[in-house]
Amino acid sequence: MTLSTPAAEVDDDDFREILAQTRAFVRTVVVPREQEIAETDAIPDDIRRAAKDMGLFGYAIPQQWGGLGLNLVQDVELAMEFGYTTLALRSMFGTNNGIAGQVLVNFGTDEQKRQWLEGIASGEVVASFALTEPGAGSNPSGLRTQAVRDGDDWVITGEKRFITNAPLADLFVVFARTRPADDHGPGIAVFLVPSGTDGVQVAGKDSKMGQEGAWTADVHFDGVRVPASALVGGSEDVGYKAAMVSLARGRVHIAALSVGQAQRALDESVAYAATATQGGAPIGNFQLVQAMIADQQTGVMAGRALVRDAARAWVEETDRRIAPSVAKLYCTEMAGKVADLAVQIHGGTGYMREVPVERIYRDVRLLRLYEGTSEIQRLIIGGGLVKAAQRG
Ligand SMILES: Cc1cc2nc3c(=O)[nH]c(=O)nc-3n(C[C@H](O)[C@H](O)[C@H](O)COP(=O)(O)OP(=O)(O)OC[C@H]3O[C@@H](n4cnc5c(N)ncnc54)[C@H](O)[C@@H]3O)c2cc1C
Repeated sequence: MTLSTPAAEVDDDDFREILAQTRAFVRTVVVPREQEIAETDAIPDDIRRAAKDMGLFGYAIPQQWGGLGLNLVQDVELAMEFGYTTLALRSMFGTNNGIAGQVLVNFGTDEQKRQWLEGIASGEVVASFALTEPGAGSNPSGLRTQAVRDGDDWVITGEKRFITNAPLADLFVVFARTRPADDHGPGIAVFLVPSGTDGVQVAGKDSKMGQEGAWTADVHFDGVRVPASALVGGSEDVGYKAAMVSLARGRVHIAALSVGQAQRALDESVAYAATATQGGAPIGNFQLVQAMIADQQTGVMAGRALVRDAARAWVEETDRRIAPSVAKLYCTEMAGKVADLAVQIHGGTGYMREVPVERIYRDVRLLRLYEGTSEIQRLIIGGGLVKAAQRG
């Protein structure tokens, strides 16, 4: 398999080494600590440090700015490895590499990149992506947070909801309206707001269904004053496009993460079926159990192929809209089904805390919700195809 592409900064040999190290880290360091992470609702400091040392806070940040410089074809291979353990691991550095970091990489001015990207890539800076608001989740173009020009500054006021890594963030990438939507666009800009700025308030962390160790919170911006240099790309019209591009890229990554979780649920299921017995026979000898495993394996293989295809289309710039949504829709739904079957294969044991598939069952539920729900992916795919046909 060729993992590099013309756009790759890292060649196949170096990438294979990075992939092997990541796989070993996930399986030998993080997997044995999953229970501790779930119980303490935190990633242990030594794991955070190890991830920093491996460059995992900046694997998708270009080398020029201190990252490892992986492209999306390579990113998804790594994401399938991260997906093999608690999703809290990936969440720790997911916003730096993904939704928040990519806004700067693709739309920041050189000065903004110089100021922030090295810290983001090293993990010294935790960046959060602050788009969602009450009433503006699936439809972010309806967001109400306002940025008002005052002399050379901007003053931001509004409320953001469910912001990943907010309790740890040093930098918020904040989407705010500078004018009502008009013929020139949705009127949404994006600003770089250090978390220590006066008027930024991070609420207590949310109590979630799963993904313990990954934190989200509401963030309030109460008359937060930032200089003109905080406006990403130096343009009021960059914000909405930056959000859409970051989210579309993120969808391929989330699809890969889903494949990783599904693979883990499958492996746990096969291992359990091969050894757990009923009436003296391993349950894996029953054909109805084999059928569940067959459906899991089929989903995982189809998902993996789809992710690789979508990542290549992204890097080659042949499809950056339909394919990411197809991959996210299929793989996140598939991971939900595979996790459900995994609990079924484990019987009552699968309903007990401390069994990996119980955690996976809860953790994968989020994948169908954030970075665009399954319904939104269907709208993008179906609507996109029909519009293309209408354009002729
Ligand atoms: C744990 C977690 C972490 C998150 N992290 C971040 C983050 O870091 N940054 C950030 O900005 N946001 C983040 N989010 C927010 C997330 O992206 C939104 O929750 C998601 O986009 C859905 O928006 P909503 O919650 O407002 O639900 P709604 O949009 O209200 O959706 C409710 C239901 O209505 C359906 N629906 C909505 N609109 C339509 C439509 N037009 N047609 C058909 N059906 C529709 C949806 O599919 C869904 O089934 C996070 C959320 C969670 C739970």
